[in-house]
Amino acid sequence: MVVLVICGGGNGAHVLAGIASSNPNADVRVLTLYADEAERWTKAMEGNDFVVTVNNQDKSQTILKNKPRLVTKDPALAANKADMIVFTVPAFAHRQYLDALKPHIRPGTVLVGLPGQSGFEFEVWTAWGDLAKQCSIMSFESLPWACRFTEFGRAATVIGTKENLAGAAWYGSVPPKADPTLVLQGCLGPHPVLLTRGALLGITLMATNGYIHPSILFGRWHKWDGNPVNEPPLFYNGLDEFSAQTMSSVSDEILAVASSLMKQRPQVDLTNVAHIWQWYLRVYADDIGDKTSLFTTIRTNAAYSGLTHPTTKTDDGKFVPDFKHRYLMEDIPFGLLVSKGIAEVAGVPTPTIDSVISWAQQKMGKEYIVNGKLAGKDVSSTRCPQRYGLTTVDAILGL
Ligand code: NAD
Repeated sequence: MVVLVICGGGNGAHVLAGIASSNPNADVRVLTLYADEAERWTKAMEGNDFVVTVNNQDKSQTILKNKPRLVTKDPALAANKADMIVFTVPAFAHRQYLDALKPHIRPGTVLVGLPGQSGFEFEVWTAWGDLAKQCSIMSFESLPWACRFTEFGRAATVIGTKENLAGAAWYGSVPPKADPTLVLQGCLGPHPVLLTRGALLGITLMATNGYIHPSILFGRWHKWDGNPVNEPPLFYNGLDEFSAQTMSSVSDEILAVASSLMKQRPQVDLTNVAHIWQWYLRVYADDIGDKTSLFTTIRTNAAYSGLTHPTTKTDDGKFVPDFKHRYLMEDIPFGLLVSKGIAEVAGVPTPTIDSVISWAQQKMGKEYIVNGKLAGKDVSSTRCPQRYGLTTVDAILGL
């Protein structure tokens, strides 16, 4: 029996709760600290089924009706004898869960970020201190599904399941009871296939929202004249060559960081860091119409059909870009800035990343980079390693 704790109360938490509870060998508990979610979810399940509808690739549906054993806001109850704790909440909420869980964690526990997003391990090492060194950490590049809950605490839908999901593990001094990839795979079912390999820092460097969204926003709007536009432009399928080139250069710089770190610490495997174009070809293999280049790959990705730039409407019915959207407000401090911080520790210059962040911070009203260095006053609210005092190569790799 595996004791699995799911942290969160949103879309991913609902779906994971239903799918993992279908495994008779899993004792599934949900911990949600947000507002009154635990009470509402518990009440919603009383006398009702908890239904997860899975839309399969062959257009068939699988209906699961398995409830988690417990939904609570009490970390002691949730974490009692836990083997694996899975975070399925946005990154800004991670710290709250880490602090609440810390007194109830036993050595050997596996903590999973699903997704972990950039700098997950830095946050865990800092929040849990010595305890973290006796646990293991896994992080995955995304959620396994595109999913939504349709009725809070009662029903959720899996719109699509990923074929595979890249992740990595870092092992502390007390080994887990069983191979954590196999345990998690057992709770997810056959898909997505978990591809756990390489160093955890590789997943931090491959948190692709941090490259994709800010690069496209920068490319489209950095020379904007301030005049509203008639329609929100297509975000992906309307990509221009300059934005694709920006994204590619950002990705090249991140590859250079990985390569430099592997030279500095030859025992470390960061070959899980790939160019963003390779990433697209793996993750969206069946959706891309024209695979000639990164530019054509994004423009012809059917999974992105109809998605537009985040905008707000003006009084006269036109549109201006929304620079307070999560594409900057989350993807800079919990994404690209983390890579910039790692680059600084590795001693690798990042001119394109610097240009994107310098433009973005102005639009966001934040100060991160000053004279090319991560010395701004708002670094303290990011997940870059400097914020946690992790300033050496060994420290960011957890060696
Ligand atoms: P979500 O938006 O449904 O999460 C909302 C939940 O987060 C809330 O129910 C609450 O439990 C918690 N929360 C919200 N505000 C909070 C606050 N101020 N303090 C504490 N907790 C708070 O998230 P999701 O859709 O389950 O996605 C989880 C992660 O996976 C996100 O990082 C998301 O970007 C990523 N992701 C989601 C999908 C998807 O299809 N849903 C796909 C790929 C990646």
